[in-house]
Amino acid sequence: MPKSTPIDWDSLDAVVADLDGTLYLGEAPLPGAVDFVTSCMARKPIFFLSNNTSKTPDITFEKLQRLGFLVRPEQVLSPLHGLVQAIKEHGFSNVWIMANAPVLAWLHTNLPHCNLRPSRSETQCVVIAYDDTFTYADLCEVGWRLQDGAKYWITHPDFVCPNPAGPVPDVGGLVELFSIGFGRRPERVFGKPNAEVLGPILSQFHASRVLFIGDRLYTDFELARRTQCQFRLVFSGETTREQWHALPGEKPLVLDLG
Ligand SMILES: [Mg+2]
Repeated sequence: MPKSTPIDWDSLDAVVADLDGTLYLGEAPLPGAVDFVTSCMARKPIFFLSNNTSKTPDITFEKLQRLGFLVRPEQVLSPLHGLVQAIKEHGFSNVWIMANAPVLAWLHTNLPHCNLRPSRSETQCVVIAYDDTFTYADLCEVGWRLQDGAKYWITHPDFVCPNPAGPVPDVGGLVELFSIGFGRRPERVFGKPNAEVLGPILSQFHASRVLFIGDRLYTDFELARRTQCQFRLVFSGETTREQWHALPGEKPLVLDLG
């Protein structure tokens, strides 16, 4: 069995932790997670980075507080921050974003001059976020705009999201649906494993002195590999010990928060 490797705190200037499957599952903190975050906060700055764009950064902050993680709002990072910045940089004014109502409201507040429900002919860009309320009509709206040639961005590539009842479908599955049906692949991804999402951290701290903790190989571990951050894998979410054993090459160090 893989053994937990203790954290060398002297080698670190900051810690970044994933959320779903790493610190909590649904509405329950994972064993040891609250104590770990509390002890970490006494030693080093800690930040929280989830790809879960079904929640606004504000809602994620409130959830962390509710579950006993006494964090500050500015410690919560989200792919939605990068999305807002990119829409502003491109000067887009008509972006059709597939997102649930609270996320659309948050985006509207942060992009007051952008129409988030443009007509087909007006649409400059289509974005798929983790919409846990979409309808068949929404799938059609996205597909038609992709067929028409709009730019195509997604907030993150996760195939499923950990959930107490079992994994639930996430953005990555929709990407395959639109790839098969409309022949398009996303041109931009904002969340993990895209290194840009760690930009606010890596502008303050050297990557080699940042520890990333996460449960998923193709987003969390891959982000650490791309940015050259330190990494610890937890087995409380998606990755199983069997998958860890089957990995070719150098395996990620593991951490048991419990
Ligand atoms: Mg996770």
